[in-house]
Amino acid sequence: MQRILKHDHKIMKTLQLILLLLIFPLLPITVSPAYGTILVMIDPAHDGLDKGVRFSDQLHEKDITLAIAHMVQKELASAPNVRVQLTRDPDKPVSIGERTRIVRNAAPDIFVSLHVNAGFEKKASGFEIYFPGFKRQNKSEKEDLSIIVKDMERNKYLNDSVRFAYSLQKNLEQVFPRRGRGLREASVPILEEITKPAVVIELGFVTNSEDKKQLADKNIQLSIAKAISKSIRDLF
Ligand SMILES: [Zn+2]
Repeated sequence: MQRILKHDHKIMKTLQLILLLLIFPLLPITVSPAYGTILVMIDPAHDGLDKGVRFSDQLHEKDITLAIAHMVQKELASAPNVRVQLTRDPDKPVSIGERTRIVRNAAPDIFVSLHVNAGFEKKASGFEIYFPGFKRQNKSEKEDLSIIVKDMERNKYLNDSVRFAYSLQKNLEQVFPRRGRGLREASVPILEEITKPAVVIELGFVTNSEDKKQLADKNIQLSIAKAISKSIRDLF
């Protein structure tokens, strides 16, 4: 009898383990920063499938944004209480929906999305910084309370987003003198999920020969990463 019970217990344990292994992949990924840790999320836009703008057959926007994201991660590795997470690593396709889910689950304290611009004219050059726009001025009756609360939270952090954007502009001006195209308020889908300081940086224009050359340069990429890291350090 004792033996059978023991045996049953073993079977139960095995069944539990199998059940856990089956359920675990279905659970949402939730990364919550340790107490006192600032979670910085860098979004190197585009990936192995959607490569973004083309520099050459071997070099695309996705490579530039990932290289700079890794450099920011390295730069901030020594900063106490700061953890840097990327929305993709390294080249695995991650859809916008998936990125939004990653951002929602990680709930970063600061969010930076990196892109490279393309223009119709070769003349257009320089960097642009976007921060979340004021949204939903006219609240419809259908809108539920959670959306209104989220809007209030977002507006609370809007000042921080603007402050962060100004700081980025100042620090990036050191890398690209007089090439700032200003701060722009925009409704960017991925930023809609975030109620903390969040920006999108368009680093320059691939359609401009000078920008293109500079953005492909590892030293310039490092300078950009340092500028971004400095703004992140200054914010906290
Ligand atoms: Zn892009």
